[in-house]
Amino acid sequence: MMQSNLYREYSAYLKNKYGCKVYKLPINLDLTCPNRDGNVSTGGCTYCNEKGGSFENLPNSYTIKEQLEKNMALIRKKYKAEKFIAYFQNYSNTYMGIEEFKDVINQAITEDIVGISISTRPDCVSDEQIKFLSDIQEKMGIDITIELGLQTSNYKTLKKINRGHSLAEFIDACIRIKAYKLRICAHVILDLPWDDTDDTIETSKILSSLGVDEVKLHSLYIADKTKMAEEYINGKLNVLSKEDYINRVVLFLEYLNPNIVIQRLIGRAPREDSLLVNWNQSWWKIRDEIIESMIKAQTYQGAKFDYLGGSALRNIQFDK
Ligand code: SF4
Repeated sequence: MMQSNLYREYSAYLKNKYGCKVYKLPINLDLTCPNRDGNVSTGGCTYCNEKGGSFENLPNSYTIKEQLEKNMALIRKKYKAEKFIAYFQNYSNTYMGIEEFKDVINQAITEDIVGISISTRPDCVSDEQIKFLSDIQEKMGIDITIELGLQTSNYKTLKKINRGHSLAEFIDACIRIKAYKLRICAHVILDLPWDDTDDTIETSKILSSLGVDEVKLHSLYIADKTKMAEEYINGKLNVLSKEDYINRVVLFLEYLNPNIVIQRLIGRAPREDSLLVNWNQSWWKIRDEIIESMIKAQTYQGAKFDYLGGSALRNIQFDK
């Protein structure tokens, strides 16, 4: 079976939608996060390093326009990309007042930008921001995606990793964003040590039932100088194996709505300043192993997507 038949790949989705190669260009703002500065909590998520969850950005001393221009020139040449998505990547990119937010978004609307993706926390998106983004989408024809960190649907695990929000805030953000027809991408870590495979399935089912449009999967990345690094060094963290991760990705995909686009099956992170990244293997090798595993099991995204829409009533004829 071809890879494209196994799961709905992001690159193919973009090519089909825009008719050309489209790449995401990261934008780095001088921000923080309410889970770090004391508004929600201090210290941040236990796995988050000081870079706020990103590493592939230009310095934020460059303006938004400069960052886009530099990255655009590079990616155009390297990958022959023709259109681009401006991606506000690190920290919580909605953690600001509405006027500043409008200014930031407007600066990203330049030639060849077909979409804007904004990464943030589910408890950090206001209705005003959503409404403004919806106007941009409608008037400028630019597709807006809000990337929400969920990580897991297990709210007890969310507490353990100090996310500062539970499942409820994620559900609330999805309902409010969907009301304005913006796209949602959910970020998930499938091998959090406190989660079992029931949590994997439940997370997949919840994302499917909420009508999330895209998913980005990561394995647990233990960055140096984090709370999680301390737990790892002190032997208090039971890290899962690569095989466990692969099995969970396959399981997650089986329960996922086949229409949901998969941005990534595994994250990409540098090995420097970290204690554990993808079991010291290249991300693409693990991606290939996931695909092989699906081929071997003769399974695919959505193979077990049969539980919504009153499924218990499907085969019953009450009125005879
Ligand atoms: S919400 Fe994101 S930026 Fe904030 S502490 Fe957690 S991982 Fe870091």
